[in-house]
Amino acid sequence: MTFQPDIAVIGAGIAGSSIASHLAAHRKVQLFEMEAQPGYHSTGRSAAIFSEAYGNETIRAFTRASRDFFYAPPAGFASAPLVTPRHVLVTARDGQEDALDHFTELARAAGHVEPVSIDAALALCPILRREVLSAAVLSTSPADIDVNELQQGYLRLFRQHGGVATMASEIVGLERDAQGWRILTANGEFRAPIIVNAAGAWAGEIGMLAGATDIGLQPLKRTACLIDPPVGHDISAWPMLLDVEEEFYLKPDAGMLLLSPADESVAEPCDAQPDELDIAIAVDRLERATTLKVRRIASKWAGLRSFVADRSPVIGFDRQAQDFFWFAALGGYGIQTAPASSRIAAGLILGNAGERDLDDFGIERSVMSPDRLVSEAAIRT
Ligand SMILES: Cc1cc2nc3c(=O)[nH]c(=O)nc-3n(C[C@H](O)[C@H](O)[C@H](O)COP(=O)(O)OP(=O)(O)OC[C@H]3O[C@@H](n4cnc5c(N)ncnc54)[C@H](O)[C@@H]3O)c2cc1C
Repeated sequence: MTFQPDIAVIGAGIAGSSIASHLAAHRKVQLFEMEAQPGYHSTGRSAAIFSEAYGNETIRAFTRASRDFFYAPPAGFASAPLVTPRHVLVTARDGQEDALDHFTELARAAGHVEPVSIDAALALCPILRREVLSAAVLSTSPADIDVNELQQGYLRLFRQHGGVATMASEIVGLERDAQGWRILTANGEFRAPIIVNAAGAWAGEIGMLAGATDIGLQPLKRTACLIDPPVGHDISAWPMLLDVEEEFYLKPDAGMLLLSPADESVAEPCDAQPDELDIAIAVDRLERATTLKVRRIASKWAGLRSFVADRSPVIGFDRQAQDFFWFAALGGYGIQTAPASSRIAAGLILGNAGERDLDDFGIERSVMSPDRLVSEAAIRT
């Protein structure tokens, strides 16, 4: 007999994989992914940083609420640590002192952060140019995330709970009738009473297929590349280097240095590709801030970070399309917030612990509900 799911989850990035694993413990769940493997889009292209000082207040609350999971996941969830400490050295040039004070205030609320002298900053990251550095702070609570380990952990749990993953199946149509949702894919038709939209940059398009609210989702492209470390330096313990106004960041990554211009170019949902100009901008900013000479780009990529106007996630049932649940707009924080956001989202669908988690971490349901984005113009008639 064919599998008849209670819930269909669209998208096998970190959002879809994590929520599907929680839901599968209680319901029959089918996960649909248009690519041949999970994590091909944004999830597989991130900088993999966990920072409780990053993002707006809502994001910071979700990140705080995710911390315990990263440091002490359930037994058997992962075969390696999900996080490894990675300090972040935030640097300022002349004129950026106010921005540094603002960052320090946020970071202090989120964990340990201390001002460091210019000498100490250079000792931590010897390539910094002393002449352009006016101040620096060191945040010691961030960490590198093993994204693959995290996503595979969720997918393993999903399968153990009897969930069914259907890869290489693009959803091309969603129709609702008296029996629930008809899900049309290139490989045939499926049915489910509830749809979870975890389609990343495509979540707006999936919403449109379902006749749901227009949440105004905007994918923004971000570029990254790997460059060689300077000869003669052991970079493994270097902090991540972050310009306080996010002009660029640089972090050790498996023996190389990951560099990004922290760009945000408006994009359509797509298989994002890096632009030579954005790579050149990153290299220029890096070379002005440090003594490093970039001779070779070992690899480069781009990914989409998708936001709505207030840059908070969209988590909740749609008010127009019945039994259509949003788990989208995770912006540049979808990995570090996944443990809490997926548990809360699943709780809202199942009607269990979601509410209590929200209270514990000071997250207002209204700040993530799709209802906050509804305006008369946005409702399709
Ligand atoms: C350069 C860069 C750096 C980043 N750094 C960090 C960081 O340090 N920390 C952090 O927490 N976050 C970071 N992010 C953000 C993070 O990667 C995203 O927030 C997160 O991956 C979003 O996950 P998702 O599951 O919503 O989207 P995705 O991973 O894109 O998953 C959505 C999935 O839906 C599938 N899909 C779409 N349409 C359909 C359809 N019609 N049918 C079937 N399947 C469909 C897609 O194929 C895709 O696999 C970064 C992102 C980028 C690009």
